Amino acid sequence: MNYKITVIKGDGIGPEIIDQTITVLEAVSEKCGISFTFKEEMMGGCAIDKYGVPLPESTLKTCRESDSVLLGAVGGPKWEGLPGDRTPEAGLLGIRAGLGLYANLRPAVIYEALREASPLKPEIVEGKIDILVVRELTGGIYFGQRGREEKGTANEWAYDTERYSVAEIERIARTAFEAASKRRGIVTSVDKANVLESSKLWREVVIRVAKDYPDITLNHMYVDNASMQLIRDPGQFDVIVTTNMFGDILSDEASMITGSIGMLPSASLGSGKLGLYEPIHGSAPDIAGQDKANPIATILSAAMMLRYSLEEYAAADIVENAVRKVLEKGYRTPDIASFGGKVVGTAEMGRLIAEEVREYEL
Ligand code: NAD
Repeated sequence: MNYKITVIKGDGIGPEIIDQTITVLEAVSEKCGISFTFKEEMMGGCAIDKYGVPLPESTLKTCRESDSVLLGAVGGPKWEGLPGDRTPEAGLLGIRAGLGLYANLRPAVIYEALREASPLKPEIVEGKIDILVVRELTGGIYFGQRGREEKGTANEWAYDTERYSVAEIERIARTAFEAASKRRGIVTSVDKANVLESSKLWREVVIRVAKDYPDITLNHMYVDNASMQLIRDPGQFDVIVTTNMFGDILSDEASMITGSIGMLPSASLGSGKLGLYEPIHGSAPDIAGQDKANPIATILSAAMMLRYSLEEYAAADIVENAVRKVLEKGYRTPDIASFGGKVVGTAEMGRLIAEEVREYEL
């Protein structure tokens, strides 16, 4: 198989972490007999500098024609203060909308070798912590009707509207059930069905969709309880599916449990196989160009790409296993070295992971 991958390096540490991810994918290619054609495109601050817009039409066109998109990070102080539609972040919103990506998948995994980095007590994170938050990305209160009335008076008031259609809930529920079928097979649907009408519909539709996935265990949790349970017993969760706003909050909470922003990947998916894969962190301008950035979040994003868009499951496992091995051998980029270890730079970390991929016994 030959896969066409659009590569968007972006700004700040983006180019460094993407370069190492490509090194790892080249090792995957040798190991697994699959090949990649990488086509580089621009988005974010660098695109503003070159084309005057954060998301050139040509970038979107190349993305649409590819099997998947790999993104570093965008933004930085140089482009702060530009008008809203000209910011690097407008490029991010534009690419998600332009590719019809309505599901955001964010795993939060605690690696054995990095258990100490978790801010939770050791007895709470003792077992396996491997959570996937599936967040609805293009609907709900962030996109509903909003406004202000009686402006400038003592009675001024404002409103936002949470609105979900059956079709929107159904497609995100399917994404969650499909993901769970490739994992431990448990879906927790998070809502506020004791109060919100939109949540009542959410729950009804999720229950209906679940009938098509008889092998998956479905349970429901109110969002206030879910936020407590994530801290009290994170090991109980496999896949969490929830609305845009609840997912925004819970995915950040789940990320914190792992203790390192440089380790966390993400995927944004639509109705087809095409997806956008990127680390959850930003462009870290404070360490850009210094060989200090942790490339693991981006490398793990590439592993998600192999699993969810390309369905190369064995290759995805090999990459995740290589990351685990390198951490077990004690190698650390500076951001994850507070509990000791052999400190290496961005390029060396990429090389070590690529080497583990090559050495994997099939
Ligand atoms: P950030 O995630 O870039 O950095 C926060 C802190 O984490 C910094 O100290 C940074 O050095 C560190 N960090 C982040 N990633 C790291 C890595 N891989 N290895 C080691 N350390 C890492 O967030 P910020 O500082 O708030 O934002 C910087 C810029 O990134 C801003 O312009 C912001 O708008 C943009 N941003 C982009 C995205 C994206 O491209 N998806 C997401 C968030 C922020």
